[in-house]
Amino acid sequence: MSWVNELARPDIVALRVYEHAAWRPELERLHANELPWDPAGGDARNGLNRYPQPQPRELLERLAALYGVEPDRVLLGRGSDEAIDLLCRAFCRAGEDAVLICPPTFGMYAVSARIQGAAVLEAPLLPEQGFALDANAVLARCTGATKLVFLCSPNNPTGNLLEERSMLRIAGELAGRALVVVDEAYLEFSGRASLAQQLREYPNLAVLRTLSKAYGLAGARCGALLADPQVIALLRKIIPPYAIPRLTVAAALERLAPQALEAGRAQLATLLRERSRLERELAALARITRLWPSDANFILAEFTEAATALERAAAAGLLVRDARAYPGLGRALRISVGTPEQNTRLLEAWS
Ligand SMILES: *Cc1c(COP(=O)(O)O)cnc(C)c1O
Repeated sequence: MSWVNELARPDIVALRVYEHAAWRPELERLHANELPWDPAGGDARNGLNRYPQPQPRELLERLAALYGVEPDRVLLGRGSDEAIDLLCRAFCRAGEDAVLICPPTFGMYAVSARIQGAAVLEAPLLPEQGFALDANAVLARCTGATKLVFLCSPNNPTGNLLEERSMLRIAGELAGRALVVVDEAYLEFSGRASLAQQLREYPNLAVLRTLSKAYGLAGARCGALLADPQVIALLRKIIPPYAIPRLTVAAALERLAPQALEAGRAQLATLLRERSRLERELAALARITRLWPSDANFILAEFTEAATALERAAAAGLLVRDARAYPGLGRALRISVGTPEQNTRLLEAWS
């Protein structure tokens, strides 16, 4: 049996998949109980009376090209959040298996694991070393029941990249035993190369990408899991049959057209300039006691009084993220880089 089938839940491996309506675009559709007309009062161009393709081919190929992998290594989802959920459901038996996370980190890994009934093991990042990954702790903490290891680079909420060598060492040592999932939601803001280029060499590595952050499409809900073709095939068995809406496909393809990409690059340059300015000017504020360098589009800062800072931001009409519930971040707030005007207003509110 293949390593993926040994790692996955046996009942999912054995599952007979739902047979969705056949995709035969050359034939007229009288097989899916759709209405034969464009929706009344709607926009005929979208063909919204028809179900979408299960994994819309054009977008799938476009994202495969964007991320530099073969199409059979891509699963499209409603945001990378959906991929996190599908991974937990496909690999973790309730009450038996576990996932491992490295706090402080993105909350959805633990939430999805717990919804599935999986245990959540922790190997904390090292706060004294700029929240570096502790590869030895990850490997020591991994039990035989640990199916998934979630690593987030750049990490949310701390903003730092994890060391590539450490992530690959973990993947190498856990080969055939656990899937190592590297969440690259913020990679575009770092200038760093993606670990997706290592998927061939490390079959148990998986990479999460999203159009929600640097591509500005959070409202469209579109993300991708890049992984071994067997992992992709397994998850395709359990993703709902028509998960990716036609409107999402249209919005994503438009955003990835050459002109939009060009405009997007200009936005990204502005954002990175503003990140530098915020880092510089926040560091000069008396109410901020510590600032972590960021490779993402947000900055984590520690305040003399976080509650007061939240109030002053709100009074200026601005909402920043309360990060105080994270272990070791009792006085920290996370600030998304905004427009130049918003950033100036925030700095004034805290000056
Ligand atoms: C925002 C975020 C996501 C979720 O992205 P979607 O594609 O919008 O679901 C995934 N991982 C991290 C670390 C995030 O911060």
